[in-house]
Amino acid sequence: MSEHLVCIECFRPVNSIFKIYSDGFKDLIECSRCHKVVDLYVECEPSVIIIDLILFKEKAYRHILFNHKFKAIVLLKFLVAFLLCDAYLYWFNKKNRQYESIRSNDHLLFYELEWNFYYMLLRAFINFLIYSCLIVFLSVFSKMRWKNVAYQVIKSLIMSSFGKLFVLPLVIWNPNDVYFNLASLFTLISNGQALSVGTQITWTKSKWIVTFSAAIVYMFDSGLEL
Ligand SMILES: [Zn+2]
Repeated sequence: MSEHLVCIECFRPVNSIFKIYSDGFKDLIECSRCHKVVDLYVECEPSVIIIDLILFKEKAYRHILFNHKFKAIVLLKFLVAFLLCDAYLYWFNKKNRQYESIRSNDHLLFYELEWNFYYMLLRAFINFLIYSCLIVFLSVFSKMRWKNVAYQVIKSLIMSSFGKLFVLPLVIWNPNDVYFNLASLFTLISNGQALSVGTQITWTKSKWIVTFSAAIVYMFDSGLEL
């Protein structure tokens, strides 16, 4: 696992972000290469970090992926939350289509649809598995090394998929395919940025890796709907 800290300005590996004095007072450390503060985000409110992540700021992604340590269980909780959002979106779309069918009196029971949610959750999990495996494979192939890359890719994908949460307010206030597609596009760009920052693959390469993997998952998922 990659556990080293970095300067978010120049990406130099550092041993510490703080200098801790004997009286317990903490002071931010200056980078010996770029002479800037190693990580200003440690003093920022979470809302500031979230806004900068939404703006795709590279430094914010470096802070989250390298200097902010998440336990495996926290990453797992994020993953479950994002899969539930995906499942809800699949289920919501299917429910709408079935609803039209009910109005045409060619459907049996509307409430049977509720059971479909579990199938949609499985579908979301399989799609994530294919998507992440493809990206891990292409990233390892691109970097020509396995060590640290797989873990960093998975962590980058999970931490940058917060755009999936946008689905919830959209479902409540304005369930429109255009907004759903924009939310998906946002998540893809965020995945690409995190992949580039987390693995140091160039932005162009990470963009193509994410786009190609998403296209494969889309084709596979479309096949499931037939
Ligand atoms: Zn630096």
